[in-house]
Amino acid sequence: MTDFHAEYAPAAPSAQLPRQPLRLSCVVPAYNEQANIEGFLHALAQTVQTLTPDFEIVVVNDGSRDSTHELSMRMSQELPLRYLALSRNFGKEAALSAGIDHARGNAVLLIDADFQHPLEMLSEMHALWQSGYEMVYGVITDRGAESGAKRMGTNLFYRVMNSGSAVKLPPNAGDFRWMDRKVVDALQALPENNRFMKGLYAWVGFKTVALPFVPKDRVAGNSSFNLRRLGSLALLGLTSFTTLPLRIWSMVGAGISLLALAYGMWIAVEALFFGNPLRGWPTLAASIMLFSGVQLLSIGILGEYIGRIYEEVKRRPIYLVAHDEDCSPLREKP
Ligand code: UDP
Ligand code: MG
Repeated sequence: MTDFHAEYAPAAPSAQLPRQPLRLSCVVPAYNEQANIEGFLHALAQTVQTLTPDFEIVVVNDGSRDSTHELSMRMSQELPLRYLALSRNFGKEAALSAGIDHARGNAVLLIDADFQHPLEMLSEMHALWQSGYEMVYGVITDRGAESGAKRMGTNLFYRVMNSGSAVKLPPNAGDFRWMDRKVVDALQALPENNRFMKGLYAWVGFKTVALPFVPKDRVAGNSSFNLRRLGSLALLGLTSFTTLPLRIWSMVGAGISLLALAYGMWIAVEALFFGNPLRGWPTLAASIMLFSGVQLLSIGILGEYIGRIYEEVKRRPIYLVAHDEDCSPLREKP
């Protein structure tokens, strides 16, 4: 466990125990997971059965273009499934929101469909929840399998996020987490459309504890997150959780103005007292180019924020459900 996580994990939980008997909702987002979904849902059900007989699996098909739909429909005959098919690919953040909205358990587990999140950890997560923690999240301790560029980008992202935002994001904490109903209700109450889940988990707070884990290799298929998609996720995180980029440009602007003022005075002094002819169009050309670049860049950053505001004020739904197959034994939320 890194220091960061030790710092943010309370020494001992102090809930009003004992808890209600566990009724678990497992939320599984699935995008083109035909090779994994069947095996995974069976394995998940088998593991969860050892914790409680009272559980449902909420499968969110995020607009898959393979046979994830047919396979999930078939699985709903065999397992206690709530199967939601979104009307198109809305992205993992939206798929998780859909799952959370439809989960009816008094605890909710978020887990990927590709076996990367170890099922062996569920009993420990359960025990920590039982002992009073309201959110138990997995922290990736080894990114050995990932490319150097991805790892560097991830480090940079957390560094920038945590220097600019009041809410601190635990580095390398992903979507693999066990949440109490209280946390789920809090997440659902957040009204924003731009859902950067890693930020929202941190924002809601509650008694949290980190469990270190090493993600396994994907059993089949490929990750949907290429560098471009990760980049836009990082941009979403930055624009929805920190105004640091805006502040940086104010400071750059102030710095440049001061420099310009000093340089202007120097030119005046040179001309008046030393009689230097006012030469220097190369300086002029270079500085105009530099500063118009700086201006365009800062307008671009402003634009990122304005774009987010635009998306937010439209108040469109976060996702649309095209198909809802309810074979869950859990009938109502606690
Ligand atoms: N996923 C999703 N919608 C997407 C992309 C991914 O629901 O647009 C799901 C995917 O099926 C998997 C989980 O999110 O269950 C994690 O995706 P992936 O394995 O591609 O990402 P990585 O493990 O590389 O972060
Ligand atoms: Mg994965």
